[in-house]
Amino acid sequence: MPELPEVETTRRGLAPLVIGRRVSAMYVYDRRLRWSVPSTLPKRLTGRKIDAIDRRSKYLLFRSSSDTLLVHFGMTGSLRAFSEAPPRTPHDHVDIVLDSGVTLRYRDPRRFGAILWVPHPADAHPLLAYLGPEPFDPVCDAAYLHAALRSRTAAIKLALMDSHLIVGVGNIYATESLFRARIRPTTPANRVSKARLARLVTEVRETLNEAIAKGGSTLRDYVDSRGEPGYFQLHYYAYGRNGLPCRVCGAAIRQIRQGGRATSYCPRCQR
Ligand SMILES: [Zn+2]
Repeated sequence: MPELPEVETTRRGLAPLVIGRRVSAMYVYDRRLRWSVPSTLPKRLTGRKIDAIDRRSKYLLFRSSSDTLLVHFGMTGSLRAFSEAPPRTPHDHVDIVLDSGVTLRYRDPRRFGAILWVPHPADAHPLLAYLGPEPFDPVCDAAYLHAALRSRTAAIKLALMDSHLIVGVGNIYATESLFRARIRPTTPANRVSKARLARLVTEVRETLNEAIAKGGSTLRDYVDSRGEPGYFQLHYYAYGRNGLPCRVCGAAIRQIRQGGRATSYCPRCQR
């Protein structure tokens, strides 16, 4: 599943290709994404200049003077740029052609993604309005988390994955950040001290930054490439390592289920 690092890498890869460009055509081959691609979208988008491409949580926002094209990758979506678009395959659902001749192609085998047209101001749209702060936002610090978690008895891992509290921390990054911060994922959120939350914020940022940096080395693949988008495999400490020896202390990594998702942790390092 594309997580924050993949979306951010896509944004960085596309930015030099789309900023300042006009849309010369949009072709929708299959509207049936998570929500139907609006039938009026090609008409609305054609002729528009893209002023900026931003990311909010896992949404890509192509901003024009008054409205915003919102793209979400769902489970399997990707957006790639081609200077000469190859023939479509069955999972290529939308092409956006720019005045430079570059084609942005949206591919999504499972079609859980979204392509929507959002009126100004985009951040007031229901999909965006209730999101918590970005993990890299300075407001998202230990004091903020400490106050927000004061009365929450749910496990810290579940809180960390709650996009109302903080966005973009999926299962992999929550698992790894908690390992690095040495916090047991089942600890009630309101019993994690401010000092440990400070450590956790640092580790969330570092874990995400490492994945983004890995993605950066694959940026060239976003142009003129037919490969599947790469997912940026970190050297995981806990995620997916059930039963294997902890890389720090050698104890067997344990796996439990929390909120329907697998959580791995080291019973010795994380307390
Ligand atoms: Zn350990």
